[in-house]
Amino acid sequence: MYDVIVIGAGASGLVVSIGLAAAKKKVLLIEKGLFGGDCTNYGCIPSKALIASSKIASALRSAKKFGITLNDTTFTADGAFARVEQIVSSVRSHEDEKALQEKGVHTFKGEASFLDKNTIKAISSSGNEQHFSAKKIIIATGSHPITPDIPGLKGAPYLNNETIFSLKKIPPSIHFLGGGPISIELALALSKLGSKVTIIQSSEQILNREDSCAKEIIEKAFKRHGITICKNTLLKSVSYQNNQFELDLFDKEKNELKKHCSSSLFIGIGRKPSLGKLNLTNAGIIYTDKGIKIDSFGRTNIKSIYAVGDSIGPPFFTHLAETHARVVLQNLLLPFKTKIPKGPYPRVTFTEPEIASLGMNEKESIEKYSLKKLKIYHFSFAGLDRAITDSSENGFVKVITKKWSSKIIGATIVAPRAGEMLQELILAKENNIPFRKLKNQIHPYPTYSRAIRQTSDLYLKEVILKTLAKWLPK
Ligand SMILES: Cc1cc2nc3c(=O)[nH]c(=O)nc-3n(C[C@H](O)[C@H](O)[C@H](O)COP(=O)(O)OP(=O)(O)OC[C@H]3O[C@@H](n4cnc5c(N)ncnc54)[C@H](O)[C@@H]3O)c2cc1C
Repeated sequence: MYDVIVIGAGASGLVVSIGLAAAKKKVLLIEKGLFGGDCTNYGCIPSKALIASSKIASALRSAKKFGITLNDTTFTADGAFARVEQIVSSVRSHEDEKALQEKGVHTFKGEASFLDKNTIKAISSSGNEQHFSAKKIIIATGSHPITPDIPGLKGAPYLNNETIFSLKKIPPSIHFLGGGPISIELALALSKLGSKVTIIQSSEQILNREDSCAKEIIEKAFKRHGITICKNTLLKSVSYQNNQFELDLFDKEKNELKKHCSSSLFIGIGRKPSLGKLNLTNAGIIYTDKGIKIDSFGRTNIKSIYAVGDSIGPPFFTHLAETHARVVLQNLLLPFKTKIPKGPYPRVTFTEPEIASLGMNEKESIEKYSLKKLKIYHFSFAGLDRAITDSSENGFVKVITKKWSSKIIGATIVAPRAGEMLQELILAKENNIPFRKLKNQIHPYPTYSRAIRQTSDLYLKEVILKTLAKWLPK
């Protein structure tokens, strides 16, 4: 009998298993695929490694703008995939069975399902079936890409996040179905690495959740890179012949059908929790297609069974999966209970420039509080010395606060390393530090983070002085 069985060795399962083993608990981690899960093998790590290569390609192309003349400006970027593979295996080597066993975690490679609320059946790929029992069980089975039911797609060699990083060559052309963060990051990266990229988006907007000014900057960047975005367009059917996809697209606005050809097709229309084969009903666990229902302590309706990470449904982020895992770990080890923090959660889309967001966006804030109770600060990088030296003035800091208290409601940063800059605002928001107080922090010159100070300075000009001006004699 184990103290705890963890199903799934991704971001959340690893955190909780390693933490439990460090606390000398007898823990078994069951994984059906590659240890490390999505983030390490098919998600964050390979995508960011590919993006890193694409930035070099982009820098080579813009050398002239920076006063550097290259004698030969042609290159092939096929080696980027070999670099991705190398980086993924290096990260995985810290999370594989050997590394975990050295940390005191028992492991089993196989597919797990519930027999009852304390017993798990696990079957290895060679058919070896074993039964394990534990006092507590943690479900950390993650999510998987949704495949739409489009005629001709089944059987065609389309790509998704589980297959795209195994390519050996940069595809000459690629269509992305879906304009969410996963597609957008990979589309921009592959375009810089030499692919002719088209995005098929069923609605009016790509990156639906993002601030409209942020989307505008990204769309302009896409245009500069020659990426075509087919908005309000549906993929009706697919055929694959002679190493080419033929795609039937329907433009909803123009009400017309058109044909596109492409050497590759990436399906990125969304993800859903991987629960199908767990036999959750054998343990009496309540769940839907959208995820497992948990309470604020991470417990399912069966109090000895917890669920963490993507298995509970969107939003799907590694930092959120890790947060769930850390809360559950504390709840398993400590006598007092910790709650999972409430959303909306910070997020970063790793485009160039990056988009980093926190809390509610402008539309959501106005709907909740009404515009007159809010102050929306917007500081453009056209006025930021560091952005000017780097020729990256296409960025901004936008912070939404309560007008007088200056309490942060939400923020969006578009900048080369917006993800890193966001942390100052996360710290302020989490600790109820009014935004106006950030203007008193010393921000080294010339850094991008000074944009946060310069945005905070606007409190004096746009709230205090503007109000005083109404009262003071002219
Ligand atoms: C292309 C891409 C890029 C991404 N980039 C980012 C990013 O930059 N930042 C970010 O925060 N998030 C990113 N994500 C999301 C992130 O990868 C996930 O949110 C995160 O991996 C979730 O962790 P998890 O532990 O819930 O699940 P996973 O990491 O998916 O791990 C679940 C594991 O459970 C295993 N499993 C499933 N069912 C069973 C079973 N029945 N028995 C045994 N094992 C099972 C699976 O094989 C898998 O290994 C990205 C995702 C993708 C696809």
